[in-house]
Amino acid sequence: MKIALIGLGAMGYPMARNLARDHEVTVWNRTTALAERHAAEHGTRLARGLADCSDAAVIITVLPTSTEVDTIVEHLAGDLAPGTLWIDATSGDPIVSRATAEHLEKIGIDFVDAPVTGGTPGAEAGTLTIMIGGSEAAFIRAEAVLRSCGRNIFHVGSVGTGHAIKAINNAMLAANLWIAAEGLVSLDKQGFEMKTALEVLNVSSGRSNVTENLLPKRLVEGDWPLTFKLALLDKDVRIAANMVHHQHLASPMLALVSNLFTAARRTLGEEADYIDVVEYVAQLSGESLKRQ
Ligand code: NDP
Repeated sequence: MKIALIGLGAMGYPMARNLARDHEVTVWNRTTALAERHAAEHGTRLARGLADCSDAAVIITVLPTSTEVDTIVEHLAGDLAPGTLWIDATSGDPIVSRATAEHLEKIGIDFVDAPVTGGTPGAEAGTLTIMIGGSEAAFIRAEAVLRSCGRNIFHVGSVGTGHAIKAINNAMLAANLWIAAEGLVSLDKQGFEMKTALEVLNVSSGRSNVTENLLPKRLVEGDWPLTFKLALLDKDVRIAANMVHHQHLASPMLALVSNLFTAARRTLGEEADYIDVVEYVAQLSGESLKRQ
């Protein structure tokens, strides 16, 4: 099948490689050099302009936010044939994606929101969890394509529901990250080895993905890679807080976590990694969890 993937960032780059094992994949990226590299490394077809994506039966967007997705929709949708399927794997905003889907429906294009979790290791290994919102027929088509990228693929409801559950997931991730950081700063000050602290927590009831999979690499091995921008996690928590606010539900914790991550983002900048929040929390108390 002819597929065009738009957005070769930390997630899109390996997803396009996995798709290219099963399909004819065209790649477009704002910075063309990355798309040239992808084509050379993985045998994908380079799109120099968005119009080069217009012969695809399936368009996949993997962009920072729904705003960039809508800009691409504006430039490309008019060139697409009716019956094209648009899969938005961005962690987007359900309110925006519902409006985008309505707009595309008028010109015969099916839209599903299909955000992913599993991080860059999951994208590399093709083991992502994918949560799809859209019609049953569109889900069946999307699932057949996304099997190249994911292991657990769910149809969670109508358009927007994928983005909704992804935002809640990431808000929970952010809350776990912050509270783990506060706790570990305290334990560090009391003389605990981080290795011991995490080992104990990880066979106890306070454990989470943060303590099991994310912090050992940073706090024990001392390796702080950039895998997921803090700015993107802040965006996700903000989407969750806004969504719950629109439902008129009380969510003091969500509002607090959103405020904390916005403060961290403003201090650490647009290029910081999300786990850098742990060191930011330590520094609020004049401490550090980074070992030289
Ligand atoms: P990156 O920042 O690594 O990549 C962003 C991509 O979007 C790049 O290809 C970039 O192009 C492109 N882009 C940025 N701005 C524009 C624009 N104005 N117009 C066109 N293209 C643009 O992001 P990730 O791959 O990490 O994230 C992509 C999505 O996946 C986000 O919604 C994120 O929340 C989500 N996600 C990320 C995970 C992760 O672990 N990284 C995990 C799960 C979901 P260029 O190369 O030119 O900058």
